[in-house]
Amino acid sequence: MPTFIVLLGPPGVGKGTQARILSETNKLAHISSGDLFRENIKNQTELGKQVKAILDKGELVPDDLTISMIRDRLTKPDCVTGAILDGFPRTPAQANALETMLAEFGGEVNAVPYISAAESILVERASGRWTCKAQGHIYHEKFNPPQQAGVCDIDGSEIYQREDDKVETVSKRIRVYLDQTMPLVEHYRKAGKLIEIDGTKPVEEVTKDLLAALNK
Ligand code: AMP
Repeated sequence: MPTFIVLLGPPGVGKGTQARILSETNKLAHISSGDLFRENIKNQTELGKQVKAILDKGELVPDDLTISMIRDRLTKPDCVTGAILDGFPRTPAQANALETMLAEFGGEVNAVPYISAAESILVERASGRWTCKAQGHIYHEKFNPPQQAGVCDIDGSEIYQREDDKVETVSKRIRVYLDQTMPLVEHYRKAGKLIEIDGTKPVEEVTKDLLAALNK
């Protein structure tokens, strides 16, 4: 049976960082809906053109576009053993669509770690975040700066501040999250799949807590 893990958490909580680590340690594909959208924007695809303004404003892309992009990604060969889903689902309609899709592939959502932190911490973290252009490696100007300013430690590419990581847009994204994604926390709690993780701890401790909870 494939293993599908949905990572939930507000913008800035460190979900992307943890998803990368989990995907390496558990040998599962890492599917980040935000990365997929940004890749489409960078490559100026039809989808990229449709969603650019939405991402820049910190709003959610319509469910139909998002679901079909994820469906496409889940059919790739690296997902036969499962995947870590990072940023998807974000609405109840997406969660329902995911259940239907996974059932088609003979799987289900196995666990839903929910990483949380107070809003003041989120704004500070997300608005200080810098991302590498080549592969999306994540830095923070205060908590995790690169060794050489402006350059990714891992692949040497330029690092930049995402348009939607500017402080006004971060606050908007947090509001959108509270409005549209919080219902999913209750949905997965009721289903007995939610694992609550304290995202205020340092990255390594959050990873330890996540791995311990998932290996139970
Ligand atoms: P992220 O990198 O997860 O913070 O996502 C960046 C942006 O991509 C979000 O602010 C949305 O505009 C869009 N996005 C990512 N995932 C989804 C999703 N599941 N549903 C709708 N929009 C999304």
